[in-house]
Amino acid sequence: MSAAKARVGIDIGATKMHGVAATSDGTVLADVLATTPTGGDAVVSAAAELVAQLRARVGDVLDGVVGVGVPGLVDAAGGNVKHAVNLGVDDWFPIAERLAERTGARVVVDNDVNAAALGAAQVTGHDDLVYLSLGTGLAAASILDGRLRRGFRSAAGEIGHVPVDPRGHPCQCGQVGCLETAASGSAVAEAWPVAGIAPAQALFDAAAAGDPRAVAVRDTFAARVADAIRLVCLTVDPEYVVLGGGVAQVGERLRVAVAHALAEQAATSPFLRSLDLPGRVLLVPGDVPVAALGAALLAGVPS
Ligand SMILES: [Zn+2]
Repeated sequence: MSAAKARVGIDIGATKMHGVAATSDGTVLADVLATTPTGGDAVVSAAAELVAQLRARVGDVLDGVVGVGVPGLVDAAGGNVKHAVNLGVDDWFPIAERLAERTGARVVVDNDVNAAALGAAQVTGHDDLVYLSLGTGLAAASILDGRLRRGFRSAAGEIGHVPVDPRGHPCQCGQVGCLETAASGSAVAEAWPVAGIAPAQALFDAAAAGDPRAVAVRDTFAARVADAIRLVCLTVDPEYVVLGGGVAQVGERLRVAVAHALAEQAATSPFLRSLDLPGRVLLVPGDVPVAALGAALLAGVPS
């Protein structure tokens, strides 16, 4: 009897790094956490430390491959990352090569939202979906007919930077009125500023308690997320849209608010109603680290 082989997946977030050892069927055997340091070399050292910890825990079943999900523009074929502003990495940084040197592993790297989409596909059992990451920003990743779509310039799914309001707020990307200025964790934080608790949690709590201003802010936010879902569905028409990212931690209440907004938007449109968008919105399971799990699955995906 031999144990199933497992791989290491590391999700490098803006503030936290999450490492897992997972088998190809999505079973997480061990997971470890660290704070994300600043600077490419420091991030590589921290990632190498997570790999060492996982090897110490479940080393004998690991197959020597490490997958890394990282925010920013990723050249998956070359293993380089660029514009990972939160990591203090501006120019192309050879993260795969550096981590391979430190660990002796074969390292594959991809954008963190792409990794999360792979994890979501594994966990939900669906292979035609768009993963919508409602984090600090707004981004999507597509698994279409079972295949990850990165795009010609690795920019597929950057829907947060589709301008939707010429009179809207300036966006950090240099444009005005981008969708992520209204449909992201940052947008919630600006519309519902609170101290000491996640803004989305506070907003949904206040709305559930009947605060009419909170209800209005929540419903406006849900409508903008619904806009993002319409954009995705009318472009590539995936079977499901999976809501994830930090804002998704408010749980089922988010899915319900967004499904309600989609139903309202379809009220005057038999065309939109026929697409049943509310019925195609799923929430990422709260108890699975999908981004780290997806990173562990990256090596099985063609770059
Ligand atoms: Zn933008």
